[in-house]
Amino acid sequence: MITVSSLTDLRKARKKLCEPVGFVPTMGYLHEGHISLVRRAKSECRSVVVSIYVNPSQFGPHEDFEKYPRNLEGDIALLEKAGVDLLWTPTNACMYPPGYQTWIDVEKLSQPLEGALRPGHFRGVATIVAKLFNCVQPQKAYFGQKDAQQAAIICQMTEDLNFPIDIVVCPTVREKDGLAMSSRNCYLTQEQRSAAKVMVQALDLARQLFEQGERQTAPLVEIVQHTVEQQTGVILQYAACVDPKTFLPMDTITDQALLLIAIQTGDTRLIDNIELTVAPVAG
Ligand code: AMP
Repeated sequence: MITVSSLTDLRKARKKLCEPVGFVPTMGYLHEGHISLVRRAKSECRSVVVSIYVNPSQFGPHEDFEKYPRNLEGDIALLEKAGVDLLWTPTNACMYPPGYQTWIDVEKLSQPLEGALRPGHFRGVATIVAKLFNCVQPQKAYFGQKDAQQAAIICQMTEDLNFPIDIVVCPTVREKDGLAMSSRNCYLTQEQRSAAKVMVQALDLARQLFEQGERQTAPLVEIVQHTVEQQTGVILQYAACVDPKTFLPMDTITDQALLLIAIQTGDTRLIDNIELTVAPVAG
């Protein structure tokens, strides 16, 4: 694996890669969720590029930018083992030089849920991903369903800005007990880690209700709310059942919906979601 930091070195190394190139943008502190994206990219592309960049513009002033976990050595070992061709670790000087003033706003999709709780977050995400796309010039780029609203925003931006890139959204990888893997899980104390399981339990209960035939979203959202409220040490930030394309709330599920949850335990925010799909009637 070649590791580069400057844009000049990235461009030189990029030119030598076999096409098609698959790209996995990350913030590092890698886990099996990230590696699943790399594996998918490897299965579909002849070369794989990964970026590690903790993007300051997607963190709010009181968020965890400074303390976001970093472990470049460990990340490099995982990426080498996964067979990545090129690792890019851009610098702040390259991404946001003095005088930087261009931003991308995916207007409607960035408003609800995470967008409402984290003002400016998706503007930072869309901008950095567009910049990374321009620099890496991949044919395919891989994102996790765990960050469902982010994935939808990237798909919309890619279409709106005519990037010639296929966006591939990959399933959420979970710990044994169901908790979605996240770099932020390392912040959790033992009690918080245990309490955080309530997210999956709540989503599972809603899924069961859906599988029993419930098609109104209110009872599905209520069971999530009620389940989380029973758990000490966890605050529910939102539970919502939305249209997967618009992220607008829906009342009745006729085809597909996304059930999303965000909780806070201690200083840590965690998010998760499941897809609810109405099975086609046989015959
Ligand atoms: P991050 O480093 O948190 O910015 O994540 C980089 C990419 O990995 C994003 O596309 C995430 O959605 C994806 N990702 C993070 N956690 C998981 C997970 N548990 N399963 C699948 N993809 C994930």
